[in-house]
Amino acid sequence: FLTSSMHIGALRWHFLLQSLEDLHKNLGQLGSCLLVIQGEYETVLRDHVQQWNITQVTLDAEMEPFYKDMEANIRRLGAELGFEVLSLVGHSLYNTQRILDLNGGSPPLTYKRFLHILSLLGDPEVPVRNLTAEDFQRCRAPEPGLAECYRVPLPVDLKISSESLSPWRGGETEGLQRLEQHLTDQGWVTSFTKPRTIPNSLLPSTTGLSPYFSMGCLSVRTFFYRLSNIYAQAKHHSLPPLSLQGQLLWREFFYTVASATPNFTQMAGNPICLQISWYKDAERLHKWKTAQTGFPWIDAIMTQLRQEGWIHHLARHAVACFLTRGDLWISWEEGMKVFEELLLDADYSINAGNWMWLSASAFFHQYTRIFCPVRFGKRTDPQGNYIRKYLPILKNFPSKYIYEPWTASEEEQKQAGCIIGQDYPFPMVNHKEASDHNLQLMKQVREEQHR
Ligand code: FAD
Repeated sequence: FLTSSMHIGALRWHFLLQSLEDLHKNLGQLGSCLLVIQGEYETVLRDHVQQWNITQVTLDAEMEPFYKDMEANIRRLGAELGFEVLSLVGHSLYNTQRILDLNGGSPPLTYKRFLHILSLLGDPEVPVRNLTAEDFQRCRAPEPGLAECYRVPLPVDLKISSESLSPWRGGETEGLQRLEQHLTDQGWVTSFTKPRTIPNSLLPSTTGLSPYFSMGCLSVRTFFYRLSNIYAQAKHHSLPPLSLQGQLLWREFFYTVASATPNFTQMAGNPICLQISWYKDAERLHKWKTAQTGFPWIDAIMTQLRQEGWIHHLARHAVACFLTRGDLWISWEEGMKVFEELLLDADYSINAGNWMWLSASAFFHQYTRIFCPVRFGKRTDPQGNYIRKYLPILKNFPSKYIYEPWTASEEEQKQAGCIIGQDYPFPMVNHKEASDHNLQLMKQVREEQHR
């Protein structure tokens, strides 16, 4: 999946290998171990089913087209080679097919209707219980040598560069620690209101659990039920769509719509997506991707993304709006691909869904609200500490210039040790002119495609 359907970068590969290593260690404590077989799944199964006398194959039921095909192929192989296939829903809260069935089989599905359907379904299934040493008592221990032969690969085995390492560490152990840390602050949990969280805090102001959910290190159901328990003990708590449980429901919403929408990750042939003639401009796209737009707020976010693989939801809003309907009028598909490569939590359905949202191509219709690349970040970080951290070249500018250093005089630029146009670029667009122009384009497209 990682190589055939998505373009995953070095940070996520490291995160995956760390997660596997952690799983291996945890299984070791239960008297078992993890064997990692590398290769294309059909060949791997054909090679190992007889050799190891495999009678049952279990897999996570996923909704992406790649996984649907994979499951169908494995079932076919099972019938041919004589093994049983067990497919379990575990990555989402509900079996999304049940939600779709109650919606009459397919989208359109609004968030409001989606919540109504969930209320008919009741609480999601409880999490699968944790494994214990007893579960492994009847298992045959792998022969000596086998564990070494099928050990978790090292980055060097897969030729993954070790140059860039994210501060985020993969694995269930880390994920659980992060979960527990957040849940100890019950006041924070019950009053959580997403728009009030801060996009440019130096440590995540939201849970930062997305990489762990995305990689399967942590169960969303465990999180959901832990939240329910806390809510049950509180007098008041925030509600969807703004609450923490509400965030999980957004995730579920995108999975549900994606699983029933053809060509969900592209504009062409995607029935829920506005058809827009975006500009094709490789040079401008490159400047956005490599943090050279000349807007410190945008460039600091893109730098955090590249260095660490995680950025706050509203920071994602800022850079996505800038690339698409706000300033550059470049296709959301291009932005989605960059996120896919750089995000630790890169997810086929959630990424595409949110990119369509931010570019006002689907779901979101308040397209007249365009984020200003100067004012947006200033509101929550007027001193620009976030910019100073991620763009150290600008760190000596006084706060009044940090979001728009091109407005500082030549003398002030010299004093800050950074000449605009030489050490840091001028803004690549005039935001006011570009966004006014794009707004007109967007109005036109929407009038034309009203139906
Ligand atoms: P919290 O606010 O703590 O929320 C808890 C969990 O709820 C998250 O871990 C996540 O699983 C889920 N969640 C929160 N917001 C959303 C949302 N808007 N949509 C769906 N699920 C949500 N999230 C991904 O997991 N993978 C992606 O590839 C991804 N791409 C995005 C692209 C764009 C352009 C935008 C605007 C958002 C994207 N998001 C993506 C959604 C969201 O930004 C992240 O899930 C969130 O910021 C992760 O941080 P957190 O774990 O601290 O979230």
